[in-house]
Amino acid sequence: MRQKPALRRHRRTKIIATLGPASSTPEMIGHLFHAGADVFRLNFSHGTHEDHAARIEAIRALEKRSGRQIAILADVQGPKLRVGTFRGGLVQLATGARFRLDLSPVPGDAARVQLPHPEIIKAAGIGSTLLIDDGKVKLRVDKKRADHLECEVVVGGAVSDRKGVNVPDITLPIPALTEKDRRDLDFALQHGIEYVGLSFVQRPEDVAEARAIINGRAWIMTKLEKPSALEALDQIVALSDCVMVARGDLGVELPPENVPLAQKRIVKACRAAGKPVVVATQMLESMVSTPTPTRAEASDVATAVFDGADAVMLSAESASGSFPREAVAMMDRIVSRVEGDPTYREIVEATRLLPERSSADAIVAAARQVAHTIGAEAIATFTMSGSTALRISRERPIAPILGLTPREETARRLCVVWGVYPIVTADAHSMSEAVAKSLRIAAQESFAGTGEEIVVVAGMPFGTSGTTNALRIATMP
Ligand code: PGA
Ligand code: MN
Repeated sequence: MRQKPALRRHRRTKIIATLGPASSTPEMIGHLFHAGADVFRLNFSHGTHEDHAARIEAIRALEKRSGRQIAILADVQGPKLRVGTFRGGLVQLATGARFRLDLSPVPGDAARVQLPHPEIIKAAGIGSTLLIDDGKVKLRVDKKRADHLECEVVVGGAVSDRKGVNVPDITLPIPALTEKDRRDLDFALQHGIEYVGLSFVQRPEDVAEARAIINGRAWIMTKLEKPSALEALDQIVALSDCVMVARGDLGVELPPENVPLAQKRIVKACRAAGKPVVVATQMLESMVSTPTPTRAEASDVATAVFDGADAVMLSAESASGSFPREAVAMMDRIVSRVEGDPTYREIVEATRLLPERSSADAIVAAARQVAHTIGAEAIATFTMSGSTALRISRERPIAPILGLTPREETARRLCVVWGVYPIVTADAHSMSEAVAKSLRIAAQESFAGTGEEIVVVAGMPFGTSGTTNALRIATMP
């Protein structure tokens, strides 16, 4: 007999919802979770540490009530460049006009403004492009001095105080973690988050440096939003635990027509490496102000799922929009609809990856095949660091993956990973105990009923990491 579980998702692709002013009460966070959010993102570009601490507390309380692990992603701002302020708060720049960016903190006007980043002024060259306010205004450098840049306004428009600046063709001579990021990171790690979002990563060294600081206390989600990062994609993926296709800034720095191809290329590289990959930004953007998305937005979410993403993400839709709950529910419906279609399975099968040469990959590839052949209801695995669950997920099996782990932190981290249903349980000490436990949990969680089969993946000797070497078929009592 199948028992009714507490809350069981039927989706393989996960949903990340950003929290913000529209979604910070414990009630709203609960609504988003029940509507389908598997992971909550805290955006450290906005809000105070008190705001974030209150959200973390609400998520942990919700986790206790629901009996389900929830991952928290602390997204640190990174070296986001901004102009200074203006007399009157705003200027109109006419196309073809001249404009100067300098180091003086004196409020700007239609002729100049501060760019408080001497290293950018130094790194820019004649012909460099500067984009203000997500690319709405475009400047081209045509004269360069030690302390300022003279520019031509290529595309004019309004520029107001502290608007962001993107410099697509300049590799910034600055590290990926600023002073503010380090303070935010300390705060986040002290509060026990699972993922750190690293913004504006430019080179593999940026990830390596963050790795040394974070030192295993969280998994690193590298945000790909600089063209220079795409040049070292494989190395960056190898150094990261997880990757985000950060289409907001990436789409400012790259021409729009290049973004879909960049998305496909990044997802493919991550899938090959077995690293979880998140597609983010503007997925249901119109739901910031309307209760339904455009058809193109629905297609965008579907495309990310077809591409093979582990998770799709909401930003303003859930953080500051008028319909946060509806946006999560809509994403849940689109993803579920895609996953339920035979075309999805066909694509998953057609893009299957070869196992790498390791005993773990040999076993998980076999587990996928066995589960497929016998129509198993689930593949259960005991995983300490999460790595066996990641390798099974890389196989994209039809059967759901039960990620059984004694570590709460591993269970939370696995919330981002395609197809994995993490469950905290004491470690098994023998194959027979592993099988008995897997069967019990599969029943409790309603994955399988009497007479149905599951596949169990384990590593012997038990309790040692990196030993995945055993596979069993077990029948539900
Ligand atoms: P952001 O990152 O929302 O922190 O800017 C995501 C993106 O740029 O797409
Ligand atoms: Mn960004």
